[in-house]
Amino acid sequence: MEWSTLPLATTRPGRVPNGTDVPLSKSCRERYIAVMSEPLHIVGGGLAGSEAAWQAAQRGVQVVLHEMRPSCGTFAHKTGKLAELVCSNSFRSDDDEHNAVGLLHWEMRQAGGIVIEAGDRHRIPAGGALAVDREAFADAVTSRLLSHANVTLETGEITNLPEDGQWIFATGPLTSSALGEALQAESGEESLAFFDAIAPIVYADSVDMSVAWEQSRYDKGETQDERKAYINCPLTRDEYEAFVDALLQAEKMEFRVGETARYFDGCLPIEVMAERGRETLRHGPMKPVGLTNTHAPDQRPYAVVQLRRDNKLGTLFNIVGFQTKMKYGAQVNVFKMIPGLKNARFARLGGIHRNTFINSPRLLDEQMRLRSKPHIRFAGQITGVEGYVESAAMGLMAGCMAAATMTGRSLPPAPHTTAIGALVNHVTGGAEARTFQPMNVNFGLFPPIDARGGRRGRRDRYKAYTDRAKRAWTSWLATSGLDAAESTFARTSVSP
Ligand SMILES: Cc1cc2nc3c(=O)[nH]c(=O)nc-3n(C[C@H](O)[C@H](O)[C@H](O)COP(=O)(O)OP(=O)(O)OC[C@H]3O[C@@H](n4cnc5c(N)ncnc54)[C@H](O)[C@@H]3O)c2cc1C
Repeated sequence: MEWSTLPLATTRPGRVPNGTDVPLSKSCRERYIAVMSEPLHIVGGGLAGSEAAWQAAQRGVQVVLHEMRPSCGTFAHKTGKLAELVCSNSFRSDDDEHNAVGLLHWEMRQAGGIVIEAGDRHRIPAGGALAVDREAFADAVTSRLLSHANVTLETGEITNLPEDGQWIFATGPLTSSALGEALQAESGEESLAFFDAIAPIVYADSVDMSVAWEQSRYDKGETQDERKAYINCPLTRDEYEAFVDALLQAEKMEFRVGETARYFDGCLPIEVMAERGRETLRHGPMKPVGLTNTHAPDQRPYAVVQLRRDNKLGTLFNIVGFQTKMKYGAQVNVFKMIPGLKNARFARLGGIHRNTFINSPRLLDEQMRLRSKPHIRFAGQITGVEGYVESAAMGLMAGCMAAATMTGRSLPPAPHTTAIGALVNHVTGGAEARTFQPMNVNFGLFPPIDARGGRRGRRDRYKAYTDRAKRAWTSWLATSGLDAAESTFARTSVSP
């Protein structure tokens, strides 16, 4: 341990890394120093693991980063570099005023994130998006981390969940099979998924409720809320036939090599169901039984599409049973044919692909720790977020949380009004555990803000979300001792 890199040890006992004097008791100081001699183990040197390692190392924690590549590969990774981008080279929108992923970029910059810093440094022209030179980006993250005095890389596969020490598992969507089995043994079969079977998610306020209505099938439920838990969209026979034709004709995505389709009958893509017969959907996810259209009680719909609440806030609804391999553009066109969804905005589109992820709302606490083994945290895509930026953001948070634990501090949860706080809240409790599926960051995860409707109103509302988030994030970083001052201090102790 290089104590010289630690603000704590530089001057006097009782001074914590944010430079604030606090009355640390003697026993607390001893615990702090004793715990600090233990390393933090991080499994997986992808976007999340690299970011977690950087954050913890910057805060004076010794990190051992375990990465199985290149000795053991995945079907998507091509190199042994840390933070390899397996597909596109885009971190998506960089608009931090009107876009939730742009806001994530902003929050990660404020916290001195290595992924966003390397992305900014190796940015290539892409309009409003942040696209990066993938080779230079991965090289930068790799060399920056490996030259950090507090980081050691150990190459090799970790195949089980350790019984002691401090650990972060960030093994991503392509977690090795042996570790997947260990996770399944720990969490139970139903709490670990190997495939996404994602139905599209729409913003509740974009559904036309003059066409759709709220009702649970057969009015089931103890409370009024439960009896109105679903949004229902009615189709006439002609609308249903046109919808099935569009589904059959839509462009579909192919599975990649190594990503074998292992459909289970419970989560068949909607277009595969349609291929099995024109009536299949009407007897499956689109069955019209047990429902009465409140706008036309005398007319029985020929088919009904149901949307189910996707978060506690009630801002997001998924289209029940509509997992699909249709291309994104085709999905938007086809789903907007559904009465009530003509002007729908999609928080995320559907998909089915190889993806290992845990049922975080069930398994993790708000500090991203495994409830059954609190010395183990999870970060990245395996927690049920989706995308490079979201995964790195979860790594950032897990790294800060682990560093706080190991330096005897407590880190209050990030405000849910921030992009990172909203994501952590969603996966650790805001999402419904029963229907949990991976999620991109989007404004539907934030506590709602009232603003005018329409396109102009939407821009104002998004700006209000990002203004509120920036204030909250700045203040949280400052009170948690994670603001730029500390990162800048730490950065000066690292070779470039
Ligand atoms: C084929 C594919 C294409 C994708 N395309 C995109 C895209 O275009 N845009 C986007 O935003 N997101 C995309 N994603 C999602 C993307 O993978 C994640 O968003 C991101 O890489 C996840 O970051 P992560 O750190 O959680 O996992 P990764 O970046 O995958 O990192 C996990 C690391 O853990 C290592 N590892 C696994 N098991 C073990 C073990 N047992 N022991 C030690 N090390 C282990 C792996 O080798 C890997 O380096 C794609 C995913 C896949 C599978």
